[in-house]
Amino acid sequence: MNTEKVIKRDQKYIMHTYARSPLVLEHGEGMYAYDADGKAYLDFTSGIGVNALGYCHPAWVQAVTMQATRLQHSSNLYYTAPCGKLAKRLCARTGLDQVFFGNSGAEANEGAIKCARKYSVTTYDPDRNKVLTLVNSFHGRTLATLTATGQDVFHKDFGPFPANFGYIPANDFDTFKAAVDDSVCAVMMEMVQGEGGVVALDADYVQSVADYCHAHDILIIVDEVQTGVGRTGTFLACEQFGLKPDLVTLAKGLGGGLPIGAVLASKKVADTMGPGSHGSTFGGNPVVCAGGCAVLDAMDDAFMRNVNARAAQLREGLASLPHVASVSGMGLMVGIAFADDVKAADVRAACERKGLLVLTAKTRLRLLPPLILSEADVAKALAILDDVLSSM
Ligand SMILES: *Cc1c(COP(=O)(O)O)cnc(C)c1O
Repeated sequence: MNTEKVIKRDQKYIMHTYARSPLVLEHGEGMYAYDADGKAYLDFTSGIGVNALGYCHPAWVQAVTMQATRLQHSSNLYYTAPCGKLAKRLCARTGLDQVFFGNSGAEANEGAIKCARKYSVTTYDPDRNKVLTLVNSFHGRTLATLTATGQDVFHKDFGPFPANFGYIPANDFDTFKAAVDDSVCAVMMEMVQGEGGVVALDADYVQSVADYCHAHDILIIVDEVQTGVGRTGTFLACEQFGLKPDLVTLAKGLGGGLPIGAVLASKKVADTMGPGSHGSTFGGNPVVCAGGCAVLDAMDDAFMRNVNARAAQLREGLASLPHVASVSGMGLMVGIAFADDVKAADVRAACERKGLLVLTAKTRLRLLPPLILSEADVAKALAILDDVLSSM
């Protein structure tokens, strides 16, 4: 494979909606990705929180290839086994009752917004359809989820937008209460704002909002597209807030690398979504869902103990590196703020040259390593970061 040729072709034929590194990844194994010249990169990005089991995990590869050789797709006019198996596992791990499968995080959030409105307008009245979201949130790129996203920079040039969304600042319960009227059907939030800079919500705030919403039958939608599936040290991040949401959305890590989105709903909400109310041609695809089952099966107690031990090791190591002002987020969703005018984008680029892939979120460096990482992987990443930061 010729790196230059791949990049040139991409620039000619792919829309320029992404700022890419001049790096062509050719294959991967475990924690490492390899470029066209065979150079190895320790990957602390997981393809933005997707490759929960790293590259080409043997159990995931086997599940996906087995299913691909048997039946790759059937439409939702017929039953196939893998989607029900995955849904059953998700309900068992979250306490929610039913699942709708789509193909991405945005679609999952779109589905959750539809579920919330459907429940509210059929239970109460047609005008009770407003969705509140948080300032600085990120919920996706479709028109409704873009509207739900509380960051103006994403909205520019794409209006008009769907009506009846409202924005409230995070961690301000009084403003939340003032924003609630008879038209509000749901509040949607990330427990840790990912694209917004890896910022966790205050536990008190979440508790106050939850109590208020439960008392007024306003649905809580937790967007766990980035925080879910073990990323923060529990299966869902909202477990650590003692929160029992009516709707949870998952995507990124759930498929282990194949496209999937899921809306998890409580029974009272799911019961309002009858035949014809929602759908997706690819949703619940058997190959993707077989891979999802392999992801969930890998996440046993020992696996989660490793996630938490590695998160502690990583956070402790990061806190003592040069120029590090603070370390944010939860579990293996890590944000790093720098002092002394050190720019996250420069750190990211320098790490890449030294064979470590990392992300940025707003002004912070962001780490989303595969959840299978070892003690030695964390030590190596810290050593490269130390090296990079020491020379800045
Ligand atoms: C990535 C992300 C989305 C969008 O997911 P896509 O699969 O890109 O549509 C939505 N919400 C959160 C919190 C995300 O991190």
